[in-house]
Order: sequence, then structure tokens, then C-alpha cells
Amino acid sequence: LTPRLQPFTSTIFAEMTALAVRTSAVNLGQGFPDTDGPASMLAEAQKAIASGINQYPPGPGRPELRQAIAEHRTRYGTQFDPDTEVLVTVGATEAIASALLGLVGPGDEVLLIEPYYDSYAACVALSGATRRVVPLAEDPVTGRFAPDIEAMRAAITPNTRLMLINTPHNPTGTVFTRAELTAIAELCVEHDLIAVTDEVYEDLIYDGLTHVPLGSLPGMAERTLTISSAGKMFNCTGWKIGWICGPAELVAAAKAAKQFLTFVGGAPFQPAIAHALRHEGPWVVGLRDQLQSKRDRLVEGLKEAGFGVRPSQGTYFVCADVRPLGFTDGFQLCRELPERIGVAAVPVQVFTDTPENWQHIVRFAFCKKDEVLDEAVARLHKLT
Ligand code: PMP
Ligand code: GLN
Repeated sequence: LTPRLQPFTSTIFAEMTALAVRTSAVNLGQGFPDTDGPASMLAEAQKAIASGINQYPPGPGRPELRQAIAEHRTRYGTQFDPDTEVLVTVGATEAIASALLGLVGPGDEVLLIEPYYDSYAACVALSGATRRVVPLAEDPVTGRFAPDIEAMRAAITPNTRLMLINTPHNPTGTVFTRAELTAIAELCVEHDLIAVTDEVYEDLIYDGLTHVPLGSLPGMAERTLTISSAGKMFNCTGWKIGWICGPAELVAAAKAAKQFLTFVGGAPFQPAIAHALRHEGPWVVGLRDQLQSKRDRLVEGLKEAGFGVRPSQGTYFVCADVRPLGFTDGFQLCRELPERIGVAAVPVQVFTDTPENWQHIVRFAFCKKDEVLDEAVARLHKLT
């Protein structure tokens, strides 16, 4: 194995899901829903297969999907040319990899915020660039994990080329505010940085909060690649349809990398996602409302079980402090939990460069049926 990849031999999701399966644990580790997306979308995919949409789609994605993606982004007041400014990818995962491989290399620095989604550090390493990592700062009153603008500013060097931002944020559930994003945008403009934003949870935001795409802020359209994915929007994480929107030059850079990663992907799913983007907006609102009440259900249960629950404003996830229960090492606890009480969770420290600062925090996914959440909570009560 090349030294570049030696720190990245297994993912925590694979590890914890395998452990959950082996022990028949309730899996609140890996984030994936346990119900299907809209029926019309499932039917469209079956129709596409039956009608012979089974060969390679065009390199940038099928035209009706690129068109639907561009139309979907107009809700934020942003305009993209479906022919040059939209690229369909194999999930957001490939979008992230393509953007980094296409835009940075040895000598470049990439600014990440920790905790970070695990593929960010691995893809920066694959690209040959160097990551500089700035932690989210925990609000001493509310417990919300917020971007630390001054720390971000201090981490920028003459070699910094790109900043990768994720909002709504996995694993913390933080939704960055317009003010926070405006400050980040100002940093990008001031230091002439490219921004790559991972917005896969853009629709899964609770309590009436709203999603602000970084690319919609002043000075950002020409320097931002915006990434999203149908997986989270329409409960189809296994279809792996994602996309990138941005200025033609940056999208072309990502496309140059993407063509040699997978070339293309998911032909029959593409018309189905185009259909869903056009017609299933109300379904997504329903999903969001369900997820908000699932969040409340799990938060309540975790609090009753004694965890120190941090606020989650979006995503599938809520973070909890295990110290009130007498534990210190979340990784150790996550390794033991399935065997001990039959619940799987994910330790947040694996998404950081400073595990010692995060070892008390564990992530639970609430994108599960109510009875699954209730069973997990009942089992967690047996922890002490
Ligand atoms: N980014 C974040 C923040 C995610 O949580 C995920 C999925 N868990 C991805 C990217 C990957 O998305 P996809 O499944 O579409 O590749
Ligand atoms: N995005 C999901 C999570 O954070 C799962 C991703 C994966 O399994 N790679 O749990």
C-alpha cells in the first residue's frame, strides 16, 4: 500500500456496520435511512431499466438530470448552465474526490474543518496536497459547534488554495448561519481561495432554519464548487447519484478527474432523480419534518439515558458527550457498545486530527424508524 493511503485503510462506517451486523445490534452508526424514497422515483428507475437506459450515460450526466439540477439550484437564486456548469457524479463522494484531484496537488494546502467527513482527508492525501485542519469551536453556553473564523484566518498561508466547507455539518448537525458563511466567504475572497462546499444535507434542516449555499454569497459564484447528492434528499443512498455545480472552468477541472475515476455512473437512476428533483419537493419537506421529530425522539431518549446531548440543527446525526455516564473514550465505548447492549454508534474522534479533543463525543444517527430508535434508547438505558 502506498504510504499516502496508509492512514486510510478502513472506514469507521464499514467497521461499525460490520460489528453491528455481527452482534445484531441496532445500527445508529452509519447514516442511512431504513425506508425508501418517493414511489414515483422508484417507478421511474424501473421504467428506465425496462426502456433500455442501461448503457453508459453521457460523461457529464444525462441532459434531463443536469437540467433538473440547474433548475433546482434556482431556489437559492443561483444560475448554472446545465451544459458547462453541472456535472453528475457517483455520489457526493466522487464529487469531492474529483474536485480535489482536479484542483489541488503537491505544494497546495487545503483547509478542512474538524470534525470532517472521513473522505476529505483521504482525498486530500490522494491529491498529494496537504491538509490544514481547524476545529469547530463549542459554544460554552449552548454546546453548538460553530466555525471559528479567526482560527480559520490564522490557518491560511500563501500556499492555501482551497477550503472545503460542509453545511449542514456531519457529524455535529451544525447548520452554518448566514453570518458565519459570509465571514467564510470574505476569507475566500480576501485570500483568493477556491471553495468546495459539501451540501448533501441541504434539505435536512430543522426548527425553521434555512440553508445558505456559500456559492450564493457575494464574490463566491466564480470560485465555488457546490456539491450535493440525491442519496440524502430522496432516501436512496445506494443509488450514488451526486453532482457538482460551479463555474465552467472549475467544473471542467473536476470533470477531468472524474472521467478517469468512474467515467460515468448510474444511467437508469439519472432520469429517476431528474423526475424526483422536479416533482418530489413536497415529499422532501415531509421527510424533513419526520426527521425533525426523529431527532427530538432520539435527543430525548439520549438525555434520559444520561448522555450530554449537543444541539443538532440538521443532517441525520446528533452528537453526545459520554462523560456524564462515566466514560472517557468514545472510540473504546463504540467498540464495546454492540456487544454490551446491542447498539452501534460512531466515535467523532476518527473524523479529526486531534482525537484527544474529541474522544468524549459519540455520534448517533436518527434516520431510522421510530421503533428502531425506541429500541436503541431502551438498550442505552441499560448502559449504567
Ligand atoms: N458528504 C457528507 C457530509 C456525507 O455525510 C456523505 C454521506 N454520508 C457524503 C458526503 C457522501 O455522499 P454520497 O453517498 O452521495 O457519496
Ligand atoms: N454518510 C454516512 C455517514 O456519515 C455514511 C457514509 C459511508 O458509509 N461512507 O454515516
